[in-house]
Amino acid sequence: MKPIPEPFRIKMVEALRPSTREERVRWLEEAGYNLFNLRAAQVYIDLLTDSGTGAMSDRQWSAMLRGDESYAGAESFYRLAEAVEEVFGFTQFVPTHQGRAAEALLFGIMVRAGQSVPNNWHFDTTRANLETIGASAVDLPIPEARDTARDHPFKGNIDLARLEQLLEQARPGQVPLALLTVTSNGVGGQPVSLDNIAQTRALLARYGVPLFLDACRFAENAWFIHQREPDWSGKPVPEIVHAMFSLVDGFTFSAKKDGLANIGGLLGVRDKAVFERVKQRMVVIEGFPTYGGLSGRDLEAMARGLREVLDPAYLAHRVGQVCWMVEQLDQAGVPVLKPAGGHGVFLDARRFLPHIPQAQFPGQALATALFVETGVRGCEIGSVMFAKRDELTGEMRYPDLDLVRLAIPRRMYTNTQLAWVADGIVELYAQRERIRGMRIVEQAPVLRHFTARFVPA
Ligand SMILES: *Cc1c(COP(=O)(O)O)cnc(C)c1O
Repeated sequence: MKPIPEPFRIKMVEALRPSTREERVRWLEEAGYNLFNLRAAQVYIDLLTDSGTGAMSDRQWSAMLRGDESYAGAESFYRLAEAVEEVFGFTQFVPTHQGRAAEALLFGIMVRAGQSVPNNWHFDTTRANLETIGASAVDLPIPEARDTARDHPFKGNIDLARLEQLLEQARPGQVPLALLTVTSNGVGGQPVSLDNIAQTRALLARYGVPLFLDACRFAENAWFIHQREPDWSGKPVPEIVHAMFSLVDGFTFSAKKDGLANIGGLLGVRDKAVFERVKQRMVVIEGFPTYGGLSGRDLEAMARGLREVLDPAYLAHRVGQVCWMVEQLDQAGVPVLKPAGGHGVFLDARRFLPHIPQAQFPGQALATALFVETGVRGCEIGSVMFAKRDELTGEMRYPDLDLVRLAIPRRMYTNTQLAWVADGIVELYAQRERIRGMRIVEQAPVLRHFTARFVPA
């Protein structure tokens, strides 16, 4: 494929500072080999995350000037409410400062210690929010998702047979709700089909369990449905989004992803009693229900972003950028997760670095080597994030995949910059034998990837 030209032109620029290899070696050492500890100015092209890092449009910036900063009942809230109803078909919702606040609110009301919450794959904060309550987060990806080379149009699907087994074996009341994460970040930004959402709902209904979407990348998921699901191919994206949300009892959302905003989140629920409790709890931890920990201008940016993200020209370019990069890397023999996901390129670190055992964090080794050689910052999604000691046997349990995610911020980097990144990865692959494993010297008990320090093994 050829890259699709950017469907925008640039009105304002931010200078990038190139660095030398010597500087990067020193910075990395000072950062304890943890890329989260770098200063952003030390990074040349920052693909750490697509969360809140995108460029806003001229229309979003101008809408922000209309931000109504009234404490209660601000006009900005009502403009957001219009967008939420138009895009998602939900009338009961609250804004939150981020997606994780929506999770904490929802779980605080609906989930208790000892319960289990199934999901196609839990995002790290979602898992942490459940585990802090004492509930268990059960990941049920389809088996195809474990094989990074295997082609499948909807690798994000939940494994319905395993979900049924879990529901069958659960004690009454043990499963308070189920989640579907669209798209599924942990298996590479892979989509969930509408058919899978519908079947999940039907199955859960038999057991009286409500279904919620972790909807952070709902538009990218809808775009894949538009392109890949025969029953929906060519249908307008807004119609597909409506179909997705019509099947669920509620959703959590981070506006830092498909809200095209730098901050913000949403929690939508259909149940009136739950919604009342959300609003009560909300005031204690997030703010009054019409501003939810945000300023009026943030609500305006989100309201516009929710509509802009559905533009097919935007989606074709966005998903096209990822797809084009994956194709370049694949053709050069670099082990990369296929098919391309929606928001990032995922390198398969165990196939990239077969000489490094999982106990020495191949993903961390690859991500740090890429920074040293190119100044590009990616993110390990693998054993640093997910390996856990089994409480019964004392053995380390490693995740199926050790990936390095190069998340592509929305509307930020040009095709030329991304082509340069792809070239850098191909060069690194040619000298992969020189890359060494890592050892952890300091770590926190939860979400250790944010703060752990490493040394070369
Ligand atoms: C980012 C994200 C979250 C959490 O949202 P924040 O705004 O970062 O708190 C939850 N789930 C998924 C799938 C995400 O990508």
